[in-house]
Amino acid sequence: MSEILVLVEHVDGEVKKVTLELLTLARSLGSPAAVWAGPGITADAKARLAEYGADKIYVAGSGDVVDHVVAPKAELLAQLVADKSPAAVLVAATAEGKEVAGRLAVKTDSGVITDAVGLREGFVADQSIFGGGVNVQSRVRRGTPIVAVRPNSTAPEAAAGAGAEEEVTVSLSDGARAARIVERVKQEKGARPELTEAAIVVSGGRGVGSAENFAIIEALADSLGGAVGASRAATDAQWYPHQFQVGQTGKTVSPQLYIAAGISGAIQHRAGMQTAKNIVAINKDPEAPIFELADYGVVGDLNQVVPQLTEEINKRK
Ligand code: FAD
Repeated sequence: MSEILVLVEHVDGEVKKVTLELLTLARSLGSPAAVWAGPGITADAKARLAEYGADKIYVAGSGDVVDHVVAPKAELLAQLVADKSPAAVLVAATAEGKEVAGRLAVKTDSGVITDAVGLREGFVADQSIFGGGVNVQSRVRRGTPIVAVRPNSTAPEAAAGAGAEEEVTVSLSDGARAARIVERVKQEKGARPELTEAAIVVSGGRGVGSAENFAIIEALADSLGGAVGASRAATDAQWYPHQFQVGQTGKTVSPQLYIAAGISGAIQHRAGMQTAKNIVAINKDPEAPIFELADYGVVGDLNQVVPQLTEEINKRK
């Protein structure tokens, strides 16, 4: 079976959920080979990769690979593409993953598909394009297909792979060493799931009215075990930190449930959330464009609706 390379996303030695999703996708199309960049792979991480189908685990354990922003990861993958002739390369459609994918495409003279939300036989991808306005089926016709898949597009399913480890030494170009990461500042993770990986996201917009009032959005998210997001109007007003912005110039999320409270539904916001499986909108304006997109809509004042909803959910726990 032909090998499909999956670039592993990991933090503090822990494999991120999106990688398990990519392995699950790869398993349905060939033999998954996980590619771990950087030092610090643990026995637990290896076991997890194998548990979700990795037949091979390529480990490029040099610190250089992670100390120099994204270019080394693209060079590592390009080297593996040349050496192993994989059928395809899958990366997560995160900001970093997409940059790696673009650079890898140039290096290997291959086609690249970003923001895939599904992948089928023949590497035909369901792709969300034009800021999420249109869904198309795309296929790479040149080189090795490189596909950046959105987190939460596939449910991860365990299916044991052989997990055979192979060390990889990558010789980085001077260009790849041109920019170096000088400091990493740990974000307070808190109890909430990471925004792009969360199965449930509750976002607040200008309608929330103030930074203090975001407490009701957080309370609803916590009652559901979800993450908190915000529209750009809310992050620009500094009511909520910018790293939680959802949309064209923020994060792209694709959760099972997205609740938009006090958000009008501008195209730039939709671009980051419209592939959510179920969308609930809470807005006092019945004409708000978000209702065109919503599976369920509540016309009302979020200051009343959101706390009532939270209370009801907490009661049923
Ligand atoms: P508004 O459009 O002002 O909507 C507020 C909504 O809240 C209204 O529908 C109103 O009826 C409702 N409301 C008010 N009070 C209440 C209440 N008490 N109860 C219930 N409902 C209430 N935006 C993003 O979100 N993400 C992006 O990444 C992004 N990128 C952009 C990039 C570019 C290049 C540009 C030009 C714009 C971008 N924007 C982005 C901005 C975008 O165009 C909108 O301005 C923004 O999404 C609006 O945010 P909002 O819906 O919170 O505010």
